[in-house]
Formats: sequence, C-alpha cells, structure tokens
Amino acid sequence: MAELRVAIVGFGKIARDQHVPAIKAAEGVTLAAVASRNASLPGLPHFSTIEELLRNGPEIDAVALCTPPQVRRAQAVAALKAGKHVMLEKPPGAAVSELDPLVALAAAQKRTLFATWHSRYAPAVEPARNWLARRRIKRVKIDWKEDVRVWHPGQAWIWEPGGLGVFDPGINALSILTRILPEPVFVTSAELSFPSNRAAPIAANLALTDTGGLPIAAEFDFRQTGPQSWDIVVDTDDGRLKLSSGGARLVAGDEVLVDEKEAEYPGLYRRFVELTAHGAIDVDLVPLRLVADAFLLGSRRIVEPFED
Ligand code: NAP
Repeated sequence: MAELRVAIVGFGKIARDQHVPAIKAAEGVTLAAVASRNASLPGLPHFSTIEELLRNGPEIDAVALCTPPQVRRAQAVAALKAGKHVMLEKPPGAAVSELDPLVALAAAQKRTLFATWHSRYAPAVEPARNWLARRRIKRVKIDWKEDVRVWHPGQAWIWEPGGLGVFDPGINALSILTRILPEPVFVTSAELSFPSNRAAPIAANLALTDTGGLPIAAEFDFRQTGPQSWDIVVDTDDGRLKLSSGGARLVAGDEVLVDEKEAEYPGLYRRFVELTAHGAIDVDLVPLRLVADAFLLGSRRIVEPFED
C-alpha cells in the first residue's frame, strides 16, 4: 500500500516532541511538508498557512493539526474540503458543538477525521481496563498535577477562552478514565480556580459518578512544583489498582503489571493509517463533554494572578 503522505500544521512543542519522531517510527506514513507561521524543518517543503500548503504544496493525503484548539476547526474544514484526511490533536475542539458539522463534512467527503486521545495509547491503559472489567469498583481518585511553567512555557493560548487552562492536561486523565471504567460517568459538581488575570482555570476539583453511584474525585492543578502527579487510583473488591506516570505504569496491590516507557504517538499514527485506508471516522467526544460539564456546573473562585 502507498505511504500516507502527511503534512504537520502548527509546529510547536507537540509537533516537534512527538509527531515528527512518531511519523519516522510508524510504518506506512511519511512526513511530506510543514505549515507553520514561524517554524520549518530542514529539507521539507514549508508553508506559512494551511491555505498556502493546500494551494501550492506537494501532493499530500492528510494533515495532522497540531495547532491550539481555538483555530483547529477552520483548518480541519479547509483540509477536508480539499479532500485530505485529518488528524486532530486533543482536545478535538474549542467547543463541543463545533464537532458535529465537522464529522458530517468528513462523512460527506469520505475522508478520515481522527480525534486523537494520545493518553489512551499509553501502555497501562488497556491492561487497566481488562483488570477492572473483572472486579467490582468501589472508588476512584485522580490526581493530575503538573507545573505549567515547565510543560507549557509561554503558551498564551492555554489561558485564553477555549484553551481549557488546567483541563488541557486534565482532559487526558478523563480520556483514560472513560476508557478504563466499564460504565459511562458524569460530572456532579466542580470547583474551578481562575487566576484573577486569566480566562481559564489554573486548578479544578471535580466530583463524578456513574448510574451505580460510584464515587470519583479528580484534582487537577497547574501549580505543582517538585514531583509531578499523573495518577489514577481505583479501589476495588480485590484491592487497589494504581495507574501512574500518565499511564506508563500499572500496579495492582504490590504487583507491577506494567512499567514501560511511554510510546503513545506511534500508536496514534498506526491507527490513523488504518482509518484512512477506509476513510473511517473516529471521534469520541466524551472527555470533552465532561470538561464542558465541569464549566457548566462549576463554582468559580478567583485566585492569585498567574505570570509565566
Ligand atoms: P504550542 O507549543 O503552543 O504549539 C502550537 C503551534 O500552533 C505553534 O506552532 C503555533 O505557531 C501554532 N499556532 C498557535 N496559535 C496559532 C494560531 N492562532 N493560528 C495558527 N497557528 C497557531 O502548543 P503545543 O503544546 O504543541 O499544543 C498544541 C496542541 O497539542 C494542543 O491542543 C495541546 O493540547 C496538544 N498537546 C500538547 C502536548 C504537550 O505536551 N505540549 C501533549 C499532547 C497534546 P506557529 O504557526 O508559529 O508554528
């Protein structure tokens, strides 16, 4: 089968750190061009905007949109209308309601729209799901706490409306949660902390449950210095399961079930290649809906201003 020729659009942290090496590592996919206002890669055709790429660029089959969520919908529309398959970075959009028309457009164009949830490709996620499927779950606690200055230096978009603030990483935890639990969950209450000078929350506490009344608590915080926490702890009738390091490590009781280096993005590209073979659509909005519900239900506290 011919290689899938992909152009990366938006050449920031995630494009450099993960997409470029993953495209190199994955079978059946090749990096054909870059569209970025400021950055380029030696030896590859470069265009300032996606419009210029689609108008004047080399033959491509697909785009990987690595821009912030606020600008991705318009880029996805342009790419789909030009007959390209589209991979969306997470979160799939800046609003839940903008995704339905995008899915409809992809279906009409018979092109793939893949809303990625990279954390679901972490090595401990499927083993956790399988382990939990055979137990009665009693309680879940999520701690997703990181230092925004280390992980998102100078990313102004994250603090703007639609940038999600602390939910930008927090939604990764929700994407894992909604994959490993056997039942759908919903938000019952939330407390969001907004820096007085920012439009997005720096911290959030959520309570969630399912129809059986399972207690689920999630704490997201961007102000964590020192050790960072990307942990989900599940208490069951057969002991405790701990998924940590964002899904790279899994411990049941004292037994280490998984302890691997994270390698999420090659898995994403393998899936993208599979989907594009049939023009299939893979868009799961559940994690984004939970975040939207946290904004709907959340009480708001104003906290200290945040400076980068
Ligand atoms: P970033 O470092 O700020 O890069 C974003 C890229 O998009 C930059 O190349 C930027 O400019 C381009 N861009 C920014 N604003 C734009 C605009 N208004 N119009 C067009 N292009 C614009 O952000 P990132 O960390 O790579 O995150 C991008 C997406 O990936 C986010 O949705 C994030 O949630 C997701 N993600 C990030 C990480 C992570 O660890 N950083 C992990 C997983 C997923 P140029 O055009 O100048 O290149």
